[in-house]
Amino acid sequence: MTNNILLKCTGCGAGYNFDINRKLCSKCGNGLTIEIKQINDFEPQQDATGIWKYTAILPSLDGEFRISLGEGNTTLHVSKKIKDETRISRLWLKDETVEPTGSYLDRSSALFASMALQLRCRNLVTYSTGNLGASLSAYSSKAGLMMKVCIKPGIDLGKLYQMIAYGAEVRVVQSFKEKPGETGDTAVATEYDPLINEAKKTIMWEIFYQLNRTLPDYIILPMGEGGLVYSTFKALNELKKLNRLTGCKTKIIGVQPDGCAPIVEAFQKGLDIVEPLNSPRTKIFDLNVTKPRFGNAALKAIRETGGSAIAISESEVLDAMNMLAEGEGVLAEPAASLTIAGLIKLRNMEEIKEGSNVVCVITGSGLKDSRLMREIALRRSNLGTLIEELSGGMLLGDTKAAILKSLSEKEKYGYQIWKELREKHSINVKIPTVYQHLSKLTKEGYVEKIGSKMVLGRKREFYTLTDKGRAIT
Ligand SMILES: [Zn+2]
Repeated sequence: MTNNILLKCTGCGAGYNFDINRKLCSKCGNGLTIEIKQINDFEPQQDATGIWKYTAILPSLDGEFRISLGEGNTTLHVSKKIKDETRISRLWLKDETVEPTGSYLDRSSALFASMALQLRCRNLVTYSTGNLGASLSAYSSKAGLMMKVCIKPGIDLGKLYQMIAYGAEVRVVQSFKEKPGETGDTAVATEYDPLINEAKKTIMWEIFYQLNRTLPDYIILPMGEGGLVYSTFKALNELKKLNRLTGCKTKIIGVQPDGCAPIVEAFQKGLDIVEPLNSPRTKIFDLNVTKPRFGNAALKAIRETGGSAIAISESEVLDAMNMLAEGEGVLAEPAASLTIAGLIKLRNMEEIKEGSNVVCVITGSGLKDSRLMREIALRRSNLGTLIEELSGGMLLGDTKAAILKSLSEKEKYGYQIWKELREKHSINVKIPTVYQHLSKLTKEGYVEKIGSKMVLGRKREFYTLTDKGRAIT
């Protein structure tokens, strides 16, 4: 069944027999890649569902075990606004936000869950920063497999909700070194998994057909473990060989958040080996990878294609996220918006030339990060109190809303607020009621006391808005 598959180290080249639970090279610790029998010609199988159109370039699986939720075959949008702003010839957005669970990893989960079924596994376990766990949870439901996801506490809330809704058992761990008791019928999936990576090749294959069998000058990808960069490189080599594209050169650009950019640092220092980071500072949790297992392979892929690697600040990522949503109608998560931020930065640096054709891969949907969506909505609309209530905050009646509004102008004391409620808002309440509201607002973190001052011979307690209070007024 798996006789035609071998595992090969991306670092030292050591070979291993396929085992679904073998992830890393035992000699050098680098990530492993799948080697399948070479094929001489290939056309996508149009009547197949999901990634199974590309069966011939994936590990062989009997048809009865192929699971699909309709992943892949995502739209390649033609960008107008961002293309014009960055003054390049053509820009396409490969929109993976529309995958079944909102992430490009659905391609990977389809392959992994199917292989687990074929190998008669009954349980899946994954150690996931978010998207992979959410995605595998959906595919394990479809495959009838038991799913256990180990997560770290900083996970995006939307991804946690997905795992729970798909029926996975979720366990919170402090580090992914912990191994729960696993039995022989359990398949473990990791972010640096050979099978998980192999399915990512289908993105580049689809782009090739969507561009009428041509390749772009640049493809821009986010990097965490470096697996997407490596898989894209692998797909480019397969494509060129099978389609005899001798003169065609697509440069790969890898982007990381500047708080956790070990691959970019190695690229910029001219190193061949990625040095692990000790203290990452990025809020983009899915890309918080300090020791990327495909880092060296990604570095090599970028260099061999003549590409580049660049780090992006959080504010640049948020700007790119807004541009994608408001200018192109694509709501991406921060990790996915990195590619647009990378394009803008490299254009400003003139590293990507004006006449270039570029594809940015938008790997996942913005709706998964509910905390960030809330922050953006509070910043960009005047619906603060409604959003606060809808997102589980305190029910702010007219009086409390008026108190917050009054305090948004400047710090005030109780009697002043009471007077303003009567005069400006026609709210007639007793002074003790104002203090009750102030006490409740303080307790909920919208308002804080900033000390007392003497006013007209009387000691007055002054109140002001906190950041939370300011966000909703
Ligand atoms: Zn090795």
